[in-house]
Amino acid sequence: MLPTLADAERMLRKHFGYPSFRPGQRRIIESLLAGRDTMGIMPTGGGKSVCYQIPALLFPGITVVISPLISLMKDQVDRLLLHGIPATFLNSTLSPEEADERIRRLMAGEYKLLYIAPERLESERFHTIFQRLPVDLVTVDEAHCISQWGHDFRPSYRTMAEKILGLPKKPLIMALTATATPDVREDITSLLGIPRDAVHTMPVRRNNLSFFVRREEDRTAFIRSRLARSPDKTGIIYCSTRKEVDKLYTALQSAGVAAARYHAGMDEREREHAQERFARDQVQVIVATNAFGMGIDKSNVRFVIHHNLPRNLESYYQEAGRAGRDGEPGECILLWNPGDMVIQRHLIDQSGLSPERKELERDKLRCMVRYAVHTDCLQVFIARYFGEEEAEPCGLCGPCRSVHGEKEDVTGEALKIFSCVKRMGERFGLTLLSKTLRGSKNIRLKQFGLDRLSTYGIMNDRTEKEIRHLCHRLLAEGYLAQTDEEELYPTIRLTAKAVDVLKGKRRALVAAEETHGRESSERPESGLYDILRELRKEIAEREQIPPYVIFHDSTLREMCRRLPVTPEQFRAIPGVGEAKLARYGQPFLDKIRTFVRETAPGSPRRPKPGPSSRPEAKVPTHVITWNMWRDGKSVEEIARLRNLKRGTIEDHLFRCGMEGFPLDWSTFIPAEHEARIMQAIERLGAHKLRPIKEALPEEVSYMAIKAAVAKREMLLRSKPPVTGSR
Ligand code: ADP
Ligand code: MG
Repeated sequence: MLPTLADAERMLRKHFGYPSFRPGQRRIIESLLAGRDTMGIMPTGGGKSVCYQIPALLFPGITVVISPLISLMKDQVDRLLLHGIPATFLNSTLSPEEADERIRRLMAGEYKLLYIAPERLESERFHTIFQRLPVDLVTVDEAHCISQWGHDFRPSYRTMAEKILGLPKKPLIMALTATATPDVREDITSLLGIPRDAVHTMPVRRNNLSFFVRREEDRTAFIRSRLARSPDKTGIIYCSTRKEVDKLYTALQSAGVAAARYHAGMDEREREHAQERFARDQVQVIVATNAFGMGIDKSNVRFVIHHNLPRNLESYYQEAGRAGRDGEPGECILLWNPGDMVIQRHLIDQSGLSPERKELERDKLRCMVRYAVHTDCLQVFIARYFGEEEAEPCGLCGPCRSVHGEKEDVTGEALKIFSCVKRMGERFGLTLLSKTLRGSKNIRLKQFGLDRLSTYGIMNDRTEKEIRHLCHRLLAEGYLAQTDEEELYPTIRLTAKAVDVLKGKRRALVAAEETHGRESSERPESGLYDILRELRKEIAEREQIPPYVIFHDSTLREMCRRLPVTPEQFRAIPGVGEAKLARYGQPFLDKIRTFVRETAPGSPRRPKPGPSSRPEAKVPTHVITWNMWRDGKSVEEIARLRNLKRGTIEDHLFRCGMEGFPLDWSTFIPAEHEARIMQAIERLGAHKLRPIKEALPEEVSYMAIKAAVAKREMLLRSKPPVTGSR
């Protein structure tokens, strides 16, 4: 019998401990299980790996994964082993004996997954072996590498495609990528022969990421203050050249920042060491070129800063998207200067590319610049670029926030700037404008007669840099305009908005500074989080693996919320599968039990509140109730022990149920009335209880209705939205 989606979901629970597939994963897996070649386009962190790892377990033979980076294979395989999934890889780091041994075991059916690089298929010897392996599925990860129009084209990806399609018994094929423009998508599907209606595209948008662009003169200073503001968050800083990496790295180190660096000029051992220190949370940042790349799947990267303008939006989005894979908030900040564009253009001109290809690259760069100066939602801009038309504003990015956010009234200074622009005849750029306002002795001012203007030196209490910065803010708000950003010497002119300010018809308002760094992830509630993190770190060091591979931050957070004390409860935490329960359950449970004993109210062993006991208030109150209920206490008992109303206790429990905590709803909703209650809610809406109560038989209590409202909400939340594939 063919495996079904239900079988797949069972495997997901067993091995990964996730209760269900995400809607996109479901569509992709369904398509595969129906025996169709399939393509999935899903943003970074969307969960692409599961789309082949789970089917691999259901197919009788082997799933081969084509993965671009040898350096990551070991890591990927180690992780699968931790989840109890037999996997292996073949690459040039193995001795011939080791490789032979693995091939033997592959033939014997000991592995479900095999990772290889595309180049491997170019070896005649391997190709012969490949033909004999019982391969059911070939997954092409980072499939955009196949396309010449993509940003990481690898010729060996094409050769690989030919070899696979030429196999005597063609396996199922799946292509996965996070970034594919419509052109690239077309290329991938036609090369791999994937039918158009088997392409499943998930929205590009990442709801947990906030994007910012900042035109910045002193980038090092900006970065330093940014890092100082949240020293406990780790992230990546991308620079465009090795030299810049070295420079920034040195500057950060001498400022006392725990930093690592990564670029292709370092030897392999140094690079590995840097990557490892970053993965293991031993440094706050890694400063890197784009060589630090694809497949870095550290899940708790909290920010990605680009120190320079990247050359296209695909690379930018892919790099920035390495923030917040765990679904927790992440920030993506792009710092740039028009000089970056000049450098990038120069690099394209100097490259060995064909004239046609150079033009394409220039187009992409122009688009990147448009992103950098975009004044509406940045996520919408990105979504459109990837061919998605109907994206909604994200409400989180710089432009979105400045629409809704705080404004600063800068009319006084703006008037000085605007009149100066006017007196200069709108013929000069930012540099001369700020020099004039500052009253600089620069010879060029004399040459142009700017030192004779009445506005010369009217802002001499400010530095030139400050003046320029204010001008940028006025530019961003559309008071000033600049001729084409791509000109080397763009000139500044006034817009109608500025003219209104000069006439006294409106005030000059700009987005208040400090827009970013809104404390993204609130600190988890209790001291328990730190205890669990510490434990995770200890184990990680002992086992020589990165901490997040043991459990993600989000999994630890969930433990703090639910406070599991038995193995079954622990197993119910999303992110805890069977293998991890067996391996790590005990030490984590021990810590949690101790914590619960010391803090839970109503526990006989709870010490008298004193300076040493942990404050109860830090565990959310409804969760405290739920824990007591789970421990077998009745609603009445809890109400008495906590000195709260019965109704409040019920509300707590329903809220927990709604949030996905296990709750036996039938205790609260009489089975014989449930259907009618649900219908009444459906018909009358859930915002008022009274009309619902009146529409139902006398004996149905308010409590039952409240419970039904919560249950319904819980069901709605867990049900995937119905969306067709596009
Ligand atoms: P991608 O390759 O698309 O960037 P990954 O496969 O690395 O993403 O998965 C991103 C994160 O999402 C991982 O931490 C993974 O464990 C988690 N994840 C994947 N599928 C699910 C699911 N169905 N429910 C909850 N978390 C999931
Ligand atoms: Mg991936």
